[in-house]
Amino acid sequence: MRSISLAIRHTLTVMPAAGRLYPYVGPRELRASRREPSAITVTSRAVLAAWLDGRARDELAEPFTFTVNAGGDLLLAPRRSEHVHCAGGRAVLAAGEITFSQDGQAWRAVAVTNHSTGYCPAPESWPAVAAALDRAGIAHPDGYDPAVVFRRCPGCQAINIVRDEHFACAICDGPVPREWNISQAPS
Ligand SMILES: [Zn+2]
Repeated sequence: MRSISLAIRHTLTVMPAAGRLYPYVGPRELRASRREPSAITVTSRAVLAAWLDGRARDELAEPFTFTVNAGGDLLLAPRRSEHVHCAGGRAVLAAGEITFSQDGQAWRAVAVTNHSTGYCPAPESWPAVAAALDRAGIAHPDGYDPAVVFRRCPGCQAINIVRDEHFACAICDGPVPREWNISQAPS
C-alpha cells in the first residue's frame, strides 16, 4: 500500500511552499449543516493538553478529526466530527484522523491518517501535518499510517479509495487515474 504514493508524483506541479490547498469536495448539504464551531486551534502542547484533559476517557481511545488550515495551524475537533466543520468550510492543507497518547506529562500523536472523505487529501499532504505538530511542540510519527489514496472515477464520478495499486473504480470497474484528481469538477 505504501508504494502507491509513487504513482501520484506527477501531480506535484505548481505547488506553493506550504503545499497544495484541498477544497471541500463532500456533499453540499453537509457543509450547509454547519453547527457551532467545536474545533480548537492547537497552538501549543498546553492547549492540546487542556483540551484532551476535558475529553471522556473512552473518547481518547478513538481518533479525533483534524485539519490543517491554510495558515498551517492544526485544528482539532471531537471524534466523528465532519472535517468540513472542523475546517470552518475552508480549503485545507491536510485533513484526517489523529490519535494521541500520554507520554509522561506530554501528549504525543501516535497515529495519523489522511482519511477524510470531505477533502480526500493526497498522501503528499503529510508535511503540513508534521509542520503543524512541530510548531506546537507535539511529537508525532513519520507519516500517515495508513496513507489513503483517493481517486475520482472519470466515468461515474464516484470517489474511490485505491488499495493495493488497484486503480479501478469499485462502482463501475472503470479505470481511475494514477494522479490525484479529486477536485476536478464532475463533467
Ligand atoms: Zn466509476
